[in-house]
Amino acid sequence: MNTVSMDKIIDLNASDPNFKNEVVTEPGGQHLKNCFQCSSCTLTCPVAEVPGLELNPRKIIREVLLGLRKEVLESKAIWQCVGCFECTDRCPQKVRFTEVIEALRRISVRSSDKKLYIFSKEKDKNRRIKLSKEGKRKHSFDKRFTESIWLWGRTWEPEYIGRYLMFGRGFPFGALIGFRYISMILGMITKFKIEFFPPWVSPARREVRKIFKRAKSKNK
Ligand code: SF4
Ligand code: SF4
Repeated sequence: MNTVSMDKIIDLNASDPNFKNEVVTEPGGQHLKNCFQCSSCTLTCPVAEVPGLELNPRKIIREVLLGLRKEVLESKAIWQCVGCFECTDRCPQKVRFTEVIEALRRISVRSSDKKLYIFSKEKDKNRRIKLSKEGKRKHSFDKRFTESIWLWGRTWEPEYIGRYLMFGRGFPFGALIGFRYISMILGMITKFKIEFFPPWVSPARREVRKIFKRAKSKNK
């Protein structure tokens, strides 16, 4: 689903006036209501200039403030940000849009429908959303990336990218995608840009796991 198109009339009776508060209570979403719609973020965003992509930071904030929860959380636009922080640097109101978008991504994953995430935290069926294809992929990649840090104390590229391609993109399509990049992967291994063997003894692993434990207990 796209965010609301320019020529569509918005039915505010169906909006969720509490959505902005939901975002504000998320880490990173605190300054959302400071936005006065100047558009500096959108004008400076490199992704917003790319034809065919839908990311428009100012518009997303406006939609959140209007309570268009489903439209925003199901959109692919919230997954197109590359986290360059240009919008955050330029915002005169210190909205920190890069963090707002992370907050929106977390809410959308938590609210996604039960078929995808058996342990969906959203109890109210009416508030569950259907995560976009882009959202599923990004979430799947982030999950494998984080698991790799937990496992080794830092990332080990062949392991988490391999698992992402096999399980995140689905077998056998993921394996086929991997084959497309095989010469590049081998080139990177021979130039020691990717470690072929796992970082068995990462002294940081114990410390990293403590951080995971603390983050988990805070999220309960
Ligand atoms: S730059 Fe800041 S104040 Fe201006 S529209 Fe973007 S978020 Fe809102
Ligand atoms: S952080 Fe995201 S939204 Fe902000 S300028 Fe960069 S790509 Fe655009």
